[in-house]
Amino acid sequence: MPLRLLVLLILACLLQEWPEPGLVWLGCPANKALFVVLTWSGVALVGAVAAALGRQTCWELAHHPEDRDGILHRYGQRRFCHLLGLFVFFVLDLYVLGWGWTVFQLFPYPGSEVLNLAPLVAVLALSWAGFYDADRALHDTSISGAAVRPFWSRSAYVGFHLRQNLGLLLAPLLLMVAEKTLQRAFPEEDENAVVVATAIGLPLAVFIALPWFLRLAWGLKPLPAGALRDRLLAAASRLRFRFSNVLLWDTNGGVANAMVAGVLPCPRYVLLSDRLIQDLSPDEVEAVFGHEVGHVKYHHILFYVTFLMASFTAVAWLWSLLIPASLSQGSELWAKLPLVGIVCVYIFLVFGFLSRRCERQADIFGCRAVSCGRPDCDGHDPGVVLLPGGRGLCPTGIRTFIEALEKVAQLNNISRSRPGWLQSWWHSTIARRVEFLQRMLADPTLERRFQRTVGLVKWGLVLALAALLLGLGLLQGWDNATFLL
Ligand SMILES: [Zn+2]
Ligand SMILES: [Zn+2]
Repeated sequence: MPLRLLVLLILACLLQEWPEPGLVWLGCPANKALFVVLTWSGVALVGAVAAALGRQTCWELAHHPEDRDGILHRYGQRRFCHLLGLFVFFVLDLYVLGWGWTVFQLFPYPGSEVLNLAPLVAVLALSWAGFYDADRALHDTSISGAAVRPFWSRSAYVGFHLRQNLGLLLAPLLLMVAEKTLQRAFPEEDENAVVVATAIGLPLAVFIALPWFLRLAWGLKPLPAGALRDRLLAAASRLRFRFSNVLLWDTNGGVANAMVAGVLPCPRYVLLSDRLIQDLSPDEVEAVFGHEVGHVKYHHILFYVTFLMASFTAVAWLWSLLIPASLSQGSELWAKLPLVGIVCVYIFLVFGFLSRRCERQADIFGCRAVSCGRPDCDGHDPGVVLLPGGRGLCPTGIRTFIEALEKVAQLNNISRSRPGWLQSWWHSTIARRVEFLQRMLADPTLERRFQRTVGLVKWGLVLALAALLLGLGLLQGWDNATFLL
């Protein structure tokens, strides 16, 4: 979700000067009051659609409880379509219905970009409130859900989702506002060393400090002392994984998930949600912890960031070469909007492909984290010696990880083979991930082949991007490098 919101954030902060909105070009008078009314009517409408879709899922659950997987699938589809509609509405609102222009006219100061986001925050909050009933019904009718603890109130639920999604965006948002302010303050002084150093150093500092922002925004506390904490710390030292702390992610039992944040060993946190710890066995929690360690061992975060930045630069640069300057000077909006579209398609195709491969690598490391060295191992007694550095890979380790994956799908009400479309775009489906691990059980050489292919693809992409940027730099001169923002 935050990645998608980030795209909207970029769209909301894209322009220095907002032109008159699309409606004015269509003959509508440039009336700020009218644009405000249009914006907030749209917000109410999108929220009402969410409530209607939620109701429909509740009705299906009440009348066809036997078709739970089908209902989950359709619910995922509806939410996805709704989210897409919500995003389209927000972009139209900014550029066509006049919200961006109205804000710019009323508050032509640095930082007013934050106001551009107001309809987005409102429409997200209303939509979560609308989907609340469906999520509650799914929780109450799931096998283990109702027994765990009562579903939270509507306001707590909406507050939680707002904090989860917007809390993460706080740092990039502040960053973008700071960069815009800088650009406005020093429009002609691109060569100024201080400006350049700030423009590069500030994002880097924020990026490194992101885990602290996360901990603050989500109100995370360290996992309490006890057997599980000791076990995870022992696993970390066995896997030679350096990090600051394991944090407990309180979701009121709503989410079974884990996450790792941080490119440097400090600050770096592993987050485990309350539901995950509650419903998975200690072995399985350790395997999930191993999956997160795997992301760090394979440097996935660093890879994603380098890859995305190099890609954005390459796409923006190529775009500026292909589109004549006279055209792009005509309107800042029309010069940048198609570019954002191209970047979105690119992210969807290439980044989706890469992230699914990286998830699989992390899955394998999760298996290794709870494996001994015996290829014929058929179970672990309490005294088993697990291999250091994740060097072992035994059938018991693989089975433990598969169990954990299956439980995570069930606990989060994710359809096993047909989850929401975005879920499968980013992570692949649970069914496919399990199927791969099962093939690995049957064929021990599969992993080596898979790792070799992934390595080739990753290095191939990085080298191709590096060659492209180098070529552009040599041909065009580095001063002509074009950045998206
Ligand atoms: Zn992962
Ligand atoms: Zn074993």
